[in-house]
Amino acid sequence: MNLNELKNAASVLKSGKRMPALFIGHGTPMNGIETNSFSNSWRDLAKTLPRPEAIVCISAHWLTQGVRVTAMKEPRTIHDFGGFPEELFAVRYPAPGSPAMAENVRKTVASVPVTADTDWGLDHGTWTVIRHMYPEADIPVLQVSIDYHQPPRFHYELGRELAALRDKGVLVVGSGNMVHNLRKVAFDRIAEVGYGYDWAHEMNAVFKKHILAGNHAPLIDYPSMGEAAMLAIPTPDHYYPMLYVLGMQAKGEEAALFNDQAVGGSLTMTSILLG
Ligand code: ZN
Repeated sequence: MNLNELKNAASVLKSGKRMPALFIGHGTPMNGIETNSFSNSWRDLAKTLPRPEAIVCISAHWLTQGVRVTAMKEPRTIHDFGGFPEELFAVRYPAPGSPAMAENVRKTVASVPVTADTDWGLDHGTWTVIRHMYPEADIPVLQVSIDYHQPPRFHYELGRELAALRDKGVLVVGSGNMVHNLRKVAFDRIAEVGYGYDWAHEMNAVFKKHILAGNHAPLIDYPSMGEAAMLAIPTPDHYYPMLYVLGMQAKGEEAALFNDQAVGGSLTMTSILLG
C-alpha cells in the first residue's frame, strides 16, 4: 500500500467512531529533527486521521516493574540518549498531559493495577515521532509503560484491554521497531534507506506475512521462530509495542503497512496502521 492508498483508507475512518491505532518504527532519535521519508510519512499520515482527544503512547523506552501511566499536567521532554547533536537535546515537545485521561486509562485496565506516575514524561520513543505528527503540541499526550517482567502474551492481552480507548477518541501509538539489534547497527550506512542484513529482511518479511494474515500467535511466541528472530529481537523492548497494537486489532479490521524499509542493517522501520 502506498501513501495515497493509505490516505484513502484513513479518510474512510473519519466517518466512523473508532480511532485508528498505530505501530510506528521510530529508528534513530535523529528522526526527531530530520525531514526524511519517515518523518514525512508521520506528518502526512496525521493529516488524514480524525483529530484525537488524546494520544496514548507505548514507547520502547519506558520499561518498568508494574504498569504505569503518566498522570502529570505538563510532561517533560526526556532526552534519553547520548552521543547526539546539541540540536536534538534542545528539542522540547510541550504537549500537555491529562490527569483525567490517565484516570480513564487506569479504569480501562481491569486485569492489573495501573499506577499513576508523575515522574516520567515523554521519552524519545514518543516525542521524536509525535512532534512530526502534531507539531502544534496541542493534544494531550500520555505514556503507558511496558512492564518488562511480563511475558509477550501479557503485552498482547493488555493491548486488547487498551483497545477500548479507541472508542473514546484516543489515538494509541506503539513506538518501537519490529527488527531492532543495536549491537549490530552499521552506523557507517545508517543514512542509507533500505540497507538491511539478510536476517533483518528475512524477519521483516515473516513479520509482515503474519501481520497481514492476522496470524498473531507466532508473533506472540516469537522465541520459537528460530535464529533469525533472535537476531532481530535480541531483547524485546522495541518489539513489545507492536504486540500492544496487534492486540488492539478488531475482528475483520484491516492492517496496512507503511515505512516498510530496513535501515542501518539491523533495524526495520516497518509500521502498521489499524483501522
Ligand atoms: Zn528506540
